[in-house]
Amino acid sequence: MNITTNLQQIKSTIPAKVTLVAVSKTYPNAAILQAYEVGQRVFGENKVQELVEKYESLPKDIEWHMIGHLQSNKVKYIAPFVKLIHGVDSLKLLQEINKRAEQNHRIIDCLLQVHIAQEETKFGFDENEVIELLKSDEIKTLKNINVIGLMGMATNTENETLVRNEFKNLKQLFDKLTAFNFQLSTLSMGMSNDYKIAIEEGSTMIRVGSSIFGSRNYH
Ligand SMILES: *Cc1c(COP(=O)(O)O)cnc(C)c1O
Repeated sequence: MNITTNLQQIKSTIPAKVTLVAVSKTYPNAAILQAYEVGQRVFGENKVQELVEKYESLPKDIEWHMIGHLQSNKVKYIAPFVKLIHGVDSLKLLQEINKRAEQNHRIIDCLLQVHIAQEETKFGFDENEVIELLKSDEIKTLKNINVIGLMGMATNTENETLVRNEFKNLKQLFDKLTAFNFQLSTLSMGMSNDYKIAIEEGSTMIRVGSSIFGSRNYH
């Protein structure tokens, strides 16, 4: 696996306006530094403890994104530094992020995770819940969070048509919200296996791990 080559290869094929989040979960600091040395600054992690450890030991100009499911009781550990939280899936979590952001004198950018896949187990809001939440009075009281967009994960399948349709649905919701005048800039969709389709369907941010760093060894 040559991280530098992989990264440069991906970068050369994606439009400049699409942000590449290098998903470094389970990979060591040395791998992250290889990507860093060729200019990558945006990294994503899905576990709070791993994210905090990497933040503490790696260069401070890295932009850290929390991409995984986030429990309310762990928000406090990442609130001092996290740049973007992708997987917000409840009002309660948004309220906790707001509280911890305020304590840190920060405004934290968030994406609402929308359930677009067929799998039952995936976290996230459905379309109507997103619309209701964004229109609600509660969200207006949260001054230390900024909902800048949506995030979704397609079904993990070889069926490209299904994946494409799921991304299309998310993009449609994104456009609908923008038409309602919500100021959304970011549509986070696409991973190693499906980022090309996601970009064709309007993704502005892709989260790519194994195509850069190689396959992961889970214990
Ligand atoms: C692990 C992960 C990714 C990256 O997956 P790859 O298949 O390695 O590219 C993207 N998004 C989320 C939410 C993840 O947990």
